[in-house]
Amino acid sequence: MKLIFLGPPGAGKGTLAVKAVEILKIQQISTGSIFRAAVAAESTLGLKVKAIMDAGQLVDDETTIALVRERLAMNDVQNGFILDGFPRTIPQAQALSEFSAIDKVVNFDIPDSGVLERLGGRRVCRKCGFNFHAVFNKPKQEGICDHCGGEVYIRDDDKPEAIQKRLEVYREQTAPLIDFYRQKGLLVDIDARPMVDEIVENFKKAMGL
Ligand code: AMP
Repeated sequence: MKLIFLGPPGAGKGTLAVKAVEILKIQQISTGSIFRAAVAAESTLGLKVKAIMDAGQLVDDETTIALVRERLAMNDVQNGFILDGFPRTIPQAQALSEFSAIDKVVNFDIPDSGVLERLGGRRVCRKCGFNFHAVFNKPKQEGICDHCGGEVYIRDDDKPEAIQKRLEVYREQTAPLIDFYRQKGLLVDIDARPMVDEIVENFKKAMGL
């Protein structure tokens, strides 16, 4: 199964992707995580994208498309994948259609108030990328990941100024993809407001599982 997870930042795409990967036995490909790893490694790519990410802006299409094209050519994703955070612009979606078929696009439906609540409290493991929440899903020991012992931190782009910018960018550049994929008959909407277990059930129903 080849899936795209589409939705505003903080809609829960990454959290559901971790569960969906177990259910469907496919790989999650998160462009945001790939970019964050590059920043942490201070690679050429990381140095190029750090300021853009911190400001809540999008990395340019050419760089992002090349990265995903390369990742999708690898052996481990030939039977399926979840694209989490890609495509985010119409040119990215058009490019993707030239190098990969997609079975379904899961659209995470959530109002801005839900997004702000989630992003404002989001805490992330620096090592394994697992998402926690300061109120709804705290790590057992403050600041330490339950899964790998890594440091749990607040992403620079989860700070208030960057959150506003990311929502603006989502509305302008990414939300048009909803109609783009609806017209192709690929879009499946899921209610992303509830807690994660209910979202998993919504997802399974939407997938006919
Ligand atoms: P995410 O973890 O998906 O919220 O992504 C974090 C940041 O990485 C975004 O705010 C962008 O700066 C960058 N990024 C991730 N995916 C893309 C993409 N498909 N196109 C452009 N920039 C991206």
